[in-house]
Amino acid sequence: MRLRQITVATALLGLLCVPAHAEVRDISRDTLPTNDGWAAADGGTTGGAAADDAHVYTVTDRAELVRALDGGSATPKIIKIAGTIDANTDDDGDHLDCADYATDGYSLKKYLAAYDPRTWGSAKPSGPQEEARRASAAKQAERVELRVGSNTTIVGLGDSRNTAVLKGASLQIRNADNVIVRNLELRDAYDCFPVWQPNTGGLGDWKTAYDNLWLNGATHVWVDHVTASDKGHPDEKEPTYFARNYLRHDGLLDITNGSDLVTVSWSRFADHDKAMLIGSSDTASGDRGRLRVTLHHNAFASVVQRAPRVRFGQVHVYNNRYVVDEDDADYRYSLGVSTESAVFAENNAFHTPGHVEAADLVKSWNGTALHQSGTLFNGYPVDLLAIYNAYNSGSERDLTADVGWTPTLHTKIDSAEAADREVARGAGAGRIR
Ligand code: CA
Repeated sequence: MRLRQITVATALLGLLCVPAHAEVRDISRDTLPTNDGWAAADGGTTGGAAADDAHVYTVTDRAELVRALDGGSATPKIIKIAGTIDANTDDDGDHLDCADYATDGYSLKKYLAAYDPRTWGSAKPSGPQEEARRASAAKQAERVELRVGSNTTIVGLGDSRNTAVLKGASLQIRNADNVIVRNLELRDAYDCFPVWQPNTGGLGDWKTAYDNLWLNGATHVWVDHVTASDKGHPDEKEPTYFARNYLRHDGLLDITNGSDLVTVSWSRFADHDKAMLIGSSDTASGDRGRLRVTLHHNAFASVVQRAPRVRFGQVHVYNNRYVVDEDDADYRYSLGVSTESAVFAENNAFHTPGHVEAADLVKSWNGTALHQSGTLFNGYPVDLLAIYNAYNSGSERDLTADVGWTPTLHTKIDSAEAADREVARGAGAGRIR
């Protein structure tokens, strides 16, 4: 009897102590699985898995994160992010808004008056307001640009109900090797001080500074279960100045300047204009033979363009899910085929509303080839290459199917239909099982 009472009491106590949801598995020392995309080549990607206990950090604000990143040092380190970290904060943790960074007399009103194309013309902005804009932008950059060094793992600690969030930051992996970023939401890398570029695209355009995550000369990088978006600050809500949308965001994940051996998996890129640029210039010949990237089981949702746009790289794009919404009136294209790119696209699924046709999904600038197979368009199999060539003859040269390589580094490739379901359920931060 007594034993039974104790057992019941213990069981009740157990019930009370069990959290409402399962504990998140500790992923902080995980390494990239064998053969999982280009980042598995040449020794693979282990991030900070070799960190000693003194270099394992749990951080909850910008100051702690900056200390843990240690100026981008190469010491093996594991950084666990808990809760929401706002990069736009001072050293006391107080939020800084755009007005706090403005200096030297900068004002948007004066800037617009100074460089109005109708009076200023098409020269690059120069003079007091442009100098003040630069000084103000430098103050913001000093807070939001966060350098990630070699041999680093950054993971969020949350699950789907309390995802770890890094807000307003531009995480930058520059000239570093062996980095893992997982289970983290990277939100709203918002530029307070866009610059007017009069000679971009004929009409001129606003140029913004920050990518949520920027791989610049980075090698062996695994990005997994990351969510990147403009959440809270959509560019479509921004005003129009000089007849152009006053954009506040650059890329969600840009991979440039000789970066190589990158795997991006189970991540979600959403509510954004230019999602992913792989190769930033037609003349960056140092990118030739590099920019090798694998993208698999990612979701691209309400993205206007660059999912991705590729120059030079051998890029394996398989099992991704693309969703264009009914109200995404600005949609331009998904797969961008540019100079010397070699995109091998397999078993991807696209969902679009009536105003977007299969012919809109691929765009080429000076591209020559695209491999595609197993594509589903609103549930139906389509040949994106044949459609591209049928609809664009005359404007751009035809693309061939021979991209000169066949991917060998990959895990199981699902049918587009199965991947579509799995990605809808499992891509993004807080969804590692
Ligand atoms: Ca960029």
